[in-house]
Amino acid sequence: MLTILDNFPDELLTTEASRLYQVLNGPTLIHLPGKRKQPLFVSALQHGNEDTGWLAIQSLLRDYKGRELPRAQSIFIGNVAAARYRLRHLEGQPDYNRVWDGEGTPEHAMMREIVDNMRRRGVFASVDIHNNTGTNPHYACVNRIDHRFFQLATLFGRTVVYFVRPENVQSMAFAELCPAVILECGRPGFEQGVVHARDFVNACLHLEEIPDRPVAAEDIDLYHTTAVVKVPDDVSYTFGPGDADIQFPEDLDKLNFSELPANSSLGWIRPDSQARLEVRNEQGEESGERYFSYQGNELRTIRPFTPSMLTLDKQVIRQDCLCYLMERLKPAEFSNFTQETGNPRINGVA
Ligand SMILES: [Zn+2]
Repeated sequence: MLTILDNFPDELLTTEASRLYQVLNGPTLIHLPGKRKQPLFVSALQHGNEDTGWLAIQSLLRDYKGRELPRAQSIFIGNVAAARYRLRHLEGQPDYNRVWDGEGTPEHAMMREIVDNMRRRGVFASVDIHNNTGTNPHYACVNRIDHRFFQLATLFGRTVVYFVRPENVQSMAFAELCPAVILECGRPGFEQGVVHARDFVNACLHLEEIPDRPVAAEDIDLYHTTAVVKVPDDVSYTFGPGDADIQFPEDLDKLNFSELPANSSLGWIRPDSQARLEVRNEQGEESGERYFSYQGNELRTIRPFTPSMLTLDKQVIRQDCLCYLMERLKPAEFSNFTQETGNPRINGVA
């Protein structure tokens, strides 16, 4: 199902994401030459409704038209079929950014082919560009506690999120090969997200190497994602007043990246309802009792945490999640991580 090209057709410079299906057969990997031979891998549109990465790539390549790139670049244009309808993925399709490990679908095989292809090319670094649907700052994510990953991430900004679940994402697969980051560029449709992503990719193309020295503590705000929160399918909910099992505040997503103290109120439970949020920790275990209480029909936090990716978009909540819960990591704590397990954990932090 993958098309591989060794040039960037001119037509693509101006084709918007929702019309790519008219030009491409589907998911496409494009290898472009450059002065330095080890390619920078850049992926866009893994989620068809998130077009900032695609716009950033187009903008960058328009700037370089007729000129040699400072470094070879390999571009993955992901879910072309879903982009047509501005959806994360189509019904019946897997989420493209959840099939980079394991097998069972043509998409799994395609992602494996891409990883093998980029391994053979000695990939230099990997950048996967996304949007989200709630109010969030721009930030980068990494899946390794590794100075090179932090160096790359802080080129995008000082806010960095470290996570190890979900385990089957693109950045996790590429972390075996090279420093890999995810860029979260806010909501789609804002020029500043496109410019930020384009300038970051351009900066990566100019890097001779990625330093292996620590990022200064004052230059990074590092968060560790410790849990994911879902609303079970049989639980009804509203944002703002309404007839439902859970009533969240209508501006819930304003809480993204704010450090909530214990006992913060996050909504109301209908008096006769036993509705509970589903919370999974890094080990995949149900851990709702660690984070939320439901006494007096009020949803409250039990311990301090920082939410991210809170969204009011019910389709995204169903297809992905309500939010992630994060804890702040101080650089002094990095040394407490163990890398050997392949699934790093924090020692000494419950
Ligand atoms: Zn995404």
